[in-house]
Amino acid sequence: MSQSRYDKIITARWIITVETDGEVLENHAIALKDGRIAAIIPATQAAALEADERVDLPNHALMPGLVNLHGHSAMTLLRGLADDKALMDWLTNHIWPAEGRHVRDDFVFDGSLLAMAEMIRGGTTTINDMYFYHGAVARAGLTSGMRTFVGCSILEFPTNYANNADDYLNKALAERRQYLGEELVSFTLAPHAPYTVSDDTFRKVVTLAEQEDMLIHCHIHESQDELNNSVKEHKQRPLARLKALGLLSPRLIAAHMVHLSEDEIELVARHGVSIGHNPASNMKLASGIAPIAKQLAAGINVGIGTDGAASNNKLDMLAETRLAALLAKVGSMDPTVVPAATAIRMATLNGANALGIGDKVGSVKVGKQADLIAIDLSEIETAPAFDPISHVVYAAGREQVSHVWVKGRALLNRRKLTTLDEAAIKANAEDWRNRILAK
Ligand SMILES: [Zn+2]
Repeated sequence: MSQSRYDKIITARWIITVETDGEVLENHAIALKDGRIAAIIPATQAAALEADERVDLPNHALMPGLVNLHGHSAMTLLRGLADDKALMDWLTNHIWPAEGRHVRDDFVFDGSLLAMAEMIRGGTTTINDMYFYHGAVARAGLTSGMRTFVGCSILEFPTNYANNADDYLNKALAERRQYLGEELVSFTLAPHAPYTVSDDTFRKVVTLAEQEDMLIHCHIHESQDELNNSVKEHKQRPLARLKALGLLSPRLIAAHMVHLSEDEIELVARHGVSIGHNPASNMKLASGIAPIAKQLAAGINVGIGTDGAASNNKLDMLAETRLAALLAKVGSMDPTVVPAATAIRMATLNGANALGIGDKVGSVKVGKQADLIAIDLSEIETAPAFDPISHVVYAAGREQVSHVWVKGRALLNRRKLTTLDEAAIKANAEDWRNRILAK
């Protein structure tokens, strides 16, 4: 081991591995080589190793980067534009009209960069996105250095981006072709929701996903209205319809999944579908409390997402993780469900598993890629520090995230963004505000 020279050695007071729930290594170091975790050793042995760079984190918890399993990055530019509305009113009277006026390639690029700057500052290393103008999202991902899953929205009705379902699909595939060689950028098929996508289109999506080996990302069982309308129109609940159409499989990441019967939880578990839980969005839009304690108990892989900044309004995965734990407890009237270690696993490894990259990232393990974050627990807000896992979930704020690495590359260093220009991003956001207000 001592013969080889490492790229970087990061020594930390605590390492939360997420390899097994609750595992914390105290005073250990991680040696990185070619973007991977090459060794995990006691800090006392790290001094003898040769490395190009050393990072000492004496008061920090080092852990896997957070995986945001459901978001619409570019919607940061609509943050706070319309609050306190019902989901359908919010969508049809506020969000869709504003998107119609402004959403083009430049809007999506600027909005995605703003979102990625915010997410990196909050410890997120992977985003599972869903929006339009996929080339713009991919370019933002490459600029920021985040691991980016570009969800290609598919709808029946026209937007600025495309005219009908086939048009959305064709454009998505054409844009995807240009990024096929990029390791940090992947494209997914994102039929928007059961109430905006026809049976025919869902069938095409399933066929295409299998042909091209792509994931499917869809909003499912988000609100009670969605279920009522489906029963009226299709004589069945959305999940039963999607099952008949062949959508339920390990390829599917179902965002929300708030309203599920016991039978539906069992069905989802049996088909290996992953769930992207969005506690803040579900609370703000009064969608309901997703039964995640039951989902987890049934063996479903549940990760956590922020949803878009227009319905949250923060892309703050630490806050979301805390809410996921708290909401599960009050939802089941049982304070023992979703303990802190489970919440951290949901926000990291479960998200990675949903995206099919759980063998590459999502935990601290020799051989995995170094998607890592450090959280400084020496602040007033996290004193005293008995248990770093408890603090990360229940006490720490995203302002305490000090470092972020993706594949060993620093994206945040002592709270400074290294790949993105903070001042330019803020100036662009102000510019968009003026354009949106001017109509
Ligand atoms: Zn969403």
